[in-house]
Amino acid sequence: FVRGLEALIDLPCITPDHHRVSLWVNTGLMTDVVRSLDHGAEGIGLFRTEVPFLLSERFPSEREQADIYREQLQAFSPKPVTMRTLDIGGDKSLPYFPIEEANPFLGWRGIRVTLDHPEIFIAQTRAMIRASEGLDNLQIMLPMVSNLQEVTSAIQIIKRALRELQEEGLDVSMPPIGVMIELPAAVYLTRALCQIVDFVSVGSNDLTQYLLAVDRNNPRVADLYSAFHPAVLNALQHVVTAAHAENRPVSICGEMAGDPGAAVLLMAMGFDTLSMNASTLLKVKAVIRAMTLSSAKALLNDVMQMNDAESIRSCVDLALYNAG
Ligand code: PEP
Ligand code: MG
Repeated sequence: FVRGLEALIDLPCITPDHHRVSLWVNTGLMTDVVRSLDHGAEGIGLFRTEVPFLLSERFPSEREQADIYREQLQAFSPKPVTMRTLDIGGDKSLPYFPIEEANPFLGWRGIRVTLDHPEIFIAQTRAMIRASEGLDNLQIMLPMVSNLQEVTSAIQIIKRALRELQEEGLDVSMPPIGVMIELPAAVYLTRALCQIVDFVSVGSNDLTQYLLAVDRNNPRVADLYSAFHPAVLNALQHVVTAAHAENRPVSICGEMAGDPGAAVLLMAMGFDTLSMNASTLLKVKAVIRAMTLSSAKALLNDVMQMNDAESIRSCVDLALYNAG
């Protein structure tokens, strides 16, 4: 823990003018789950299921997956656990399922792979739903969505998985389904997507990469990669407004949610939930507890008039410094 912040673990994440924000965590391994609970997380906003797949030497069986998923669900119950379906491709390929492409980030990635391999998708969603029996805290989230058809196809497969398990005698029900908004196309489809899913969550790591055409892992162009770029901030505000117009909760689970300055802007935009690595949770909580929503909105209003990421970053840093 950062010294002094432990005192915040059991305190609510609320601004001095009584605006509440939920702070959730991103997980991969079971150790993340334990650390998250220690830090007072209110839910898991992103369980990267590819992590256990990356640690395995072959595709884990439905049973093996169900055991891993159940551990996370049980540890957090009754708090929500958002499990993302397999997001391989891009920079993450499994040794036992190699993908060779000239442009992996624009290629076969996330839901594109699992819709082409329904046997992988059905085993995984069956494992998730199986693991949720007797617990009521599973949510399923779909990565790399670029159109509505992908979502309707995925939902059909999830419904089939549910039906099969029910026919096998399990007492399970349909979990809430959500979509990651991480492609520019999805930003502009937020309203339509919200009409067919229960929640959306922005993947700002990929969204920044795709909006700015800057590889998130390439040090040569790292200076161009900034979530404070006005185009990114505009896209984020658009997503929140569109999701709320459809009465859907909206969260963000990219790295920027764990940056205290960014978190203040995201709160001002109206994000209901910020999901981050456990290590940043208390710092973000400290800032939100010190900053009124009205001052955060005034700051957002100021930065939305600015035209470059660097000025925006400095303006936010200064506001945080002044707020102590
Ligand atoms: C993101 O893209 O912001 C995200 C949370 O997913 P990942 O970092 O796993 O691609
Ligand atoms: Mg992503």
